[in-house]
Amino acid sequence: MKLPQVPRAVRRDTPSVYPCEACGADLRFNPGETRMVCDHCGHMQDIPAITHRGESGLRELPLAPVLVQGLPETESIGQRHLSCPNCSAQIELGPDQQATECPFCATPIVAEAGGARQFAPQGVLPFTVTETEARAALTKWLKGRWFAPNGLAEFARKGRRMTGVYAPFWTFDARSRTRYSGQRGDYYYETRLVTVNENGQTVRREEQERRIRWTPVTGQVARDFDDVLVYAARSLPDDHVGRLHPWNLSRVAAYDGSFLAGFSAESYTVEIPEAHHQAQAKMLQVIQSDIRRDIGGDTQRLGAMDPQFHDETFKHILLPIWSAAYRFQGRSYRFIVNGQTGVVSGDRPWSVWKIALAALLAALVAGVLFYIAR
Ligand SMILES: [Zn+2]
Ligand SMILES: [Zn+2]
Repeated sequence: MKLPQVPRAVRRDTPSVYPCEACGADLRFNPGETRMVCDHCGHMQDIPAITHRGESGLRELPLAPVLVQGLPETESIGQRHLSCPNCSAQIELGPDQQATECPFCATPIVAEAGGARQFAPQGVLPFTVTETEARAALTKWLKGRWFAPNGLAEFARKGRRMTGVYAPFWTFDARSRTRYSGQRGDYYYETRLVTVNENGQTVRREEQERRIRWTPVTGQVARDFDDVLVYAARSLPDDHVGRLHPWNLSRVAAYDGSFLAGFSAESYTVEIPEAHHQAQAKMLQVIQSDIRRDIGGDTQRLGAMDPQFHDETFKHILLPIWSAAYRFQGRSYRFIVNGQTGVVSGDRPWSVWKIALAALLAALVAGVLFYIAR
């Protein structure tokens, strides 16, 4: 699955982006380290940007002008990228890389989509989990899935390497103030007499019935949002990406191409206005729960709300994901591993005969219990 680097012998005559100081071969960013390594001679080289690590140094950009005029051309970079015909992933390539397969769905890629201008990322979260660790996490995850086909974990362990991909995200900050109206519901109980039939006899009995007393409420809530994350591509399903949470974004470093040496990066395909829309939807969910808390009582009815967002800013960042797609016994399986925490998210693997066996066992147990009960 590795997007293979072009061997030195057949390298085009383009200069290496990150040449080794000792021998001139291409350097590779080493997960978890603050240095790049040379696979050729073993030389280690410091990454200049790593010294001002930490999110505080990152620039948040004002959102309002971008929503009106679009992203500033001056901040964009040109790239070669490949387009996956199956899942629509756009894979960025460094000048020294070639891709043969999509890292997300294992579809062969031949056509190069050509250069396109993209808004440059402000930040990158460097890989801390190595490929070996990612594959170990995946193998363990598969073993913990009882319904997974026996051979799959074995196959995954022996199979091809996972691909390290920097996935594109937008993050949004905002301050919000929301006036609302609604109703606060408080429970109370009333006793009433009911007539029931017990063993063929009609009896009258007292029963407690829960009622709700509704009171109209108006109020205002305020909430500041920091780094609401939106995945900026469509090649991975949202729930897959969601299962990789949480990310420790305080480790995001100012963008430096060194972190990408030896890895692939996916280009964003979700533009700012759409991503902003998704971010506001996430913010509104938080605001709604704020309102419920503000209303109080046992239950609440939400009426009108008038959310006002201001001081909205955004960033474009890259987050590290190890990806593997396997075709095993005629089925496709896709797994991704958080390159910072090692958390695994994957397609639910299942084996037909294991499920059939489980169903058969359940039927047997039910049969035995029925026999005993008689
Ligand atoms: Zn070297
Ligand atoms: Zn694909």
